[in-house]
Amino acid sequence: MPQPVSYRGMSLIVPDNDSEWKEYYAHARQHRLMLRACNACGLMRYPAMHACPWCMDLGWTWKEVSGRGTIYSYETVVHAIQPGFKDATPYAVVLVELDEQRAKPTADEALRIIANLVKPDGLTFEDAKEVAIGRRVRVVFQDVGESMALPQFTLTDEPPQGRVWRLPE
Ligand SMILES: [Zn+2]
Repeated sequence: MPQPVSYRGMSLIVPDNDSEWKEYYAHARQHRLMLRACNACGLMRYPAMHACPWCMDLGWTWKEVSGRGTIYSYETVVHAIQPGFKDATPYAVVLVELDEQRAKPTADEALRIIANLVKPDGLTFEDAKEVAIGRRVRVVFQDVGESMALPQFTLTDEPPQGRVWRLPE
C-alpha cells in the first residue's frame, strides 16, 4: 500500500490500483496538468475516467494542457464539513472551463475542472470576495508529498471572458 500524505490535517491516500488518479496526481507533482484525450474522437475529459464520456472509446493518451481557463461557476464554502478547512472559511471552490476545449463537444458539456481558488503561492485561499463567474484563472500546483500535488487555480489579471457575475452580497 502507498504511504498516505497529509493535507490540512487529513490523511490522503490513492490506492495503487487507482491508475486514473494516481497518474493524474503524479503528473501534477511534476507541475504539469495532464488530462486523458480520447484516441478515437480526440476530446479530453475530466476526471481521468477509463472510457470516453462522449464516444465510449476505451483508448486514451495523456495530454498536457495549459491550465488557463475561465471560471464557469463557483460556490462559497461558509461552513466547512471537513475540520481541516475550518480556518479557511469562507473560501471559494471554482469550476473552471479550460481554454483548450471551450464549448466542445457542446456549450453545455465542455472540459471543466473543479478546484479551490487560491493565491498565486498555491497554498493560501483567495479572498472569497474576489471570485466571479467570467474571471480568468491559471493552474497552480500544491505539493502534498513526493508523488502527489493538487492542481488548484489562481486569478490572473487578464480581462474577464463574457458576462462577469457574482452572488450579490
Ligand atoms: Zn471519444
